[in-house]
Amino acid sequence: MTLRGRFAPSPTGRMHLGNVYSALLSWLLARANNGQWILRIEDLDRQRCRPQFARQLIDDLQWLGLTSDAPITYQSQRTDIYIDAFHQLEQQGIVYPCYCSRADIMASRAPHRSDGIVVYSGRCRNLTSEQREILARERQPAWRIVVPDCDASFTDLHYGPQQCNLARDCGDFILRRADGNFAYQLAVVVDDAMMHVTQVVRGNDLMPSTHQQLFLYQALGFPRPQYFHLPMLLSPSGRRLSKRDLDTDMQFLRLHYSSEQLIGHIAYLSNLIDRDEAISLNELLSVFDARRLPGDDITVG
Ligand code: GLU
Repeated sequence: MTLRGRFAPSPTGRMHLGNVYSALLSWLLARANNGQWILRIEDLDRQRCRPQFARQLIDDLQWLGLTSDAPITYQSQRTDIYIDAFHQLEQQGIVYPCYCSRADIMASRAPHRSDGIVVYSGRCRNLTSEQREILARERQPAWRIVVPDCDASFTDLHYGPQQCNLARDCGDFILRRADGNFAYQLAVVVDDAMMHVTQVVRGNDLMPSTHQQLFLYQALGFPRPQYFHLPMLLSPSGRRLSKRDLDTDMQFLRLHYSSEQLIGHIAYLSNLIDRDEAISLNELLSVFDARRLPGDDITVG
């Protein structure tokens, strides 16, 4: 079976150096294994995602020479597919309504480590139908999945064996928000599985989500992909790079670098090449050795 990697950005602003680095590494890790690489736009959160950011993102990737091997997909157009998966889980009796008020705030996006991950107490798990009825008069519920009290593990291709206890470390997590939007965890699993993604490459701040995702793979009967989590690019203050760091924004980068210079710069920062100099994608691919990537996060600046 052909390996298939992907890049799955959320179009909430212009890409920055950290996004470009993830895109480049996911491409290299796919191509180095003669694999395909696809692009999926994760635009589920209608409040934060904008079509113009998605267009810009595709343009920025094209400028770098990174083009999808399959038609680009948009999560905002795949609601019916998520509904099916959600029903499958409901039929297993492992989904319940949650009326807690903060429930849906963070629920639809990828929970990056710096967002602070809260393990849900399970408060709404065992409500009686009467209690549910009363609460339903006040508000629409979000929908959570019950996770069992058991250990879960996987082997990350970069960081090695990872383990957690699902109940203690993840808790019941949200599949669908009160406003009807599907949550990142459900959508990412359904999409990666249905798009035959076999290798997921992304920042290590999404490592904890992998346990939740693998639990959904199992519940939905999909085969597991492999995971390669990347060291993060950090600003000098130790924060993960974000859209606030304007000098790492693609608008700035495209003004100051050629695409080959930028690729070389990222390859140098991630220890893939010895000098900070321009390099084409194909040249970089020919010398690419994933074992050179550091384990520790990388400070930029
Ligand atoms: N769309 C997610 C984000 O931008 C990444 C999803 C993933 O790679 O699993 O944070």
